[in-house]
Amino acid sequence: MTLTAKVLWAMGLGIVVGLVINLGGLAGEGSVISEYLVGGVFALVGKAFVTALKMLVVPLVFFSLLSGVLGIGDVRKLGSVGVKSFGLYLLTTAIAIAVAMSIALLVAPGSGANGVSEASFSAKEAPPLSDVLLNIIPDNVIHAFATGNMLQIIFFSILLGISLLMVGQRAKAIAEGIEILNEAMMHMVTIVMSVAPYAVFALLAKAVAELGLDLLLSLAGYVVVLVVALMLHLFGTLMVLLKLLSGLSPKAFLAKIRDAQVFAFSTASSNATIPVTLRCVTKRMGVDNSVASFTIPFGATINMDGTAIMQGVATVFIANVYGIELGLGGYLTVILMSVLASIGTAGVPGVGLIMLSMVFVQVGLPVEGIGLILGVDRILDMVRTSVNVTGDAVVTCIVAKAEGELDRACFEDISAGIVEAVEIDVEQEAKLAEAMDRVQREA
Ligand code: ASP
Repeated sequence: MTLTAKVLWAMGLGIVVGLVINLGGLAGEGSVISEYLVGGVFALVGKAFVTALKMLVVPLVFFSLLSGVLGIGDVRKLGSVGVKSFGLYLLTTAIAIAVAMSIALLVAPGSGANGVSEASFSAKEAPPLSDVLLNIIPDNVIHAFATGNMLQIIFFSILLGISLLMVGQRAKAIAEGIEILNEAMMHMVTIVMSVAPYAVFALLAKAVAELGLDLLLSLAGYVVVLVVALMLHLFGTLMVLLKLLSGLSPKAFLAKIRDAQVFAFSTASSNATIPVTLRCVTKRMGVDNSVASFTIPFGATINMDGTAIMQGVATVFIANVYGIELGLGGYLTVILMSVLASIGTAGVPGVGLIMLSMVFVQVGLPVEGIGLILGVDRILDMVRTSVNVTGDAVVTCIVAKAEGELDRACFEDISAGIVEAVEIDVEQEAKLAEAMDRVQREA
């Protein structure tokens, strides 16, 4: 069985176990199951896995971007990749939210209800765009790396890569070293991925066991409209764009992006999923690292189609609940605000709600309305994060195709880059040990 198949089985099993615990009322406050199983083993295994993924993100992005820039040959190409991906990211997000709002306006979830919620939610103000732009330049590189500030890391890595290119021939040894470190990081991704079946099982069993199913039902209008809009974007808009702009087969794409989607679903974080998304597009779809190493971390930070869709539907839903008429101007403001808000906020769990509060402040909707949807947000976060990373991968393929950096044969080869099991090549290992030994003896 391939790893993907195992992970999918684990996911299904996790949902079933979670449902049994939830519906059987086994996870009551203080019960053994909730203390030791859901809040104990499941929480531990899941957390360990997500932490290991996060551990990979910064060094992986650093080394892959560096080797991407070093391998690109012509620095002007970077500019073209940057402009194209930025434009496409904004475009897909804007389409996503516009379509979502249209569907929500048609169905009108939440009208007739009256909005009282006990949960409270405090607003955040949107940072001014000038700050967002200025913030791309790190004042302290170590701080940027330590806090995992993706845009700052991207900025510094590209500059360093360009500077190394300027050093020329003498930087050859270091460039080779970076290439090797990048390859090693990719192996580390496969090692961490190999425990995914257990982790995904634990993450899903915990999420479903703790889910308020009755809450989900009471908000059915909102949940259904949102999920429909998300699926429409994933299978409709994004696939049409992929076909139209790159001519690549949506079927092959969907088969190959599954790992990234499942990881995004289980972790609810585009950032933590970067290693897997990067692996999917480079090893499985044949996108060259010089494009993917930039567009994937960039997309995980600024491109959030699923989150924008949630914001569109939530705005209409809460406006309906409170009986507030937003009007065309209000809706256009929501579209603009959501697109802008997505640029400056990172892809981590739950950030979508914070962005939503910024949007609400702008259009004058009551921020406490967010309390209404708070309870079901965790599970919806999982779904929209899968849509977010799919969007990143679609744009990456389109840009790579346009730049002539996509290996069509690899894209069409269904089994390219599949992880079966992590194996260590004993022969290679022995050779390396021998070489190290020789170096030491000579020294
Ligand atoms: N969890 C989402 C992501 O990482 C962001 C959000 O919608 O909260 O992409």
